[in-house]
Amino acid sequence: MGIERAWVRVLTRCIAPLVAATTMGAAQAATPVKIALTFDDLPAHSALPPGVSRIDVAGRLLAAFHDAGTGPVYGFVNGVHEEREPDSVGVLSLWRAAGHPLANHTWSHLDLNTHGLADWEADLVRNEALLQRHMAGQDWRWLRYPFLSEGETPEKHVAARKLLKAHGYRIASVTMSFGDYAWNEPHARCMVKGDAAAVASLEASYLKAAKDSLDYSRRLSATLYGRDIAYVLLMHAGAFDARVMPRLLKMYQDNGAKFVSLEEAERDKFYAADFKTQATEAPTTLENAMKAKGLPVPKLDLPFAELDRMCR
Ligand SMILES: [Zn+2]
Repeated sequence: MGIERAWVRVLTRCIAPLVAATTMGAAQAATPVKIALTFDDLPAHSALPPGVSRIDVAGRLLAAFHDAGTGPVYGFVNGVHEEREPDSVGVLSLWRAAGHPLANHTWSHLDLNTHGLADWEADLVRNEALLQRHMAGQDWRWLRYPFLSEGETPEKHVAARKLLKAHGYRIASVTMSFGDYAWNEPHARCMVKGDAAAVASLEASYLKAAKDSLDYSRRLSATLYGRDIAYVLLMHAGAFDARVMPRLLKMYQDNGAKFVSLEEAERDKFYAADFKTQATEAPTTLENAMKAKGLPVPKLDLPFAELDRMCR
């Protein structure tokens, strides 16, 4: 049984690219849309539905990565979760055992815009022993800013970048996001109520939001540069994310996506600012790049209000 399944997987892998190449448009097949998947808030993000553990969530995510052939996926860690939720210990080891890297999201998800730089630096450094242990000899010095807060003043923004540079970090920018985190709490509530219809509607709205954000980022990139930059997609390691992950990854692949590593995506010249200290003028998001050129920033409509009302 196990061996048969393994063979089906091998065959599927061999055949899938051929099928994809013949069914996709010629332009899409020639120039895939490069997307680096990144997952924040490991090892414990948002609410769990009844009967689902943090280990289950990680296992489902990792199985989906494997089946979709994503290659390495960075998980951004807040070490404090292991103290708050001892059941989440083991998630980081699973992630590493599956061949995926880990990086820094600060120890306690501290918001740079509402905390002093020294406190924020201490929180960043406090997370390092855990990362060193799991990533011995490998590249974990990537920082994903909690709340994507890069400092509320230009001075603090630059000071934080200098500090990160001094600690050897590069910044993992975000150029694609659909607010995936916002589906996890309503999902847990709807599962408590056993409302299967509501869960199905959550799945549909999640996949629609992901497709809308793919189109949105591509439209901005086309307007700005006349090409697709390599995108860095922000996701979260939540129970609902894990539930929908196989379908989500298929949606991206059906739309011409090729998953690449964070390192590969950040080699795109759009991200040059992520490696510099004096970067206040250089945009790190597509929206800011639009503003810098004096272009109107279109709105990406996401159903947050509706999600917040569901299964109350
Ligand atoms: Zn986060």
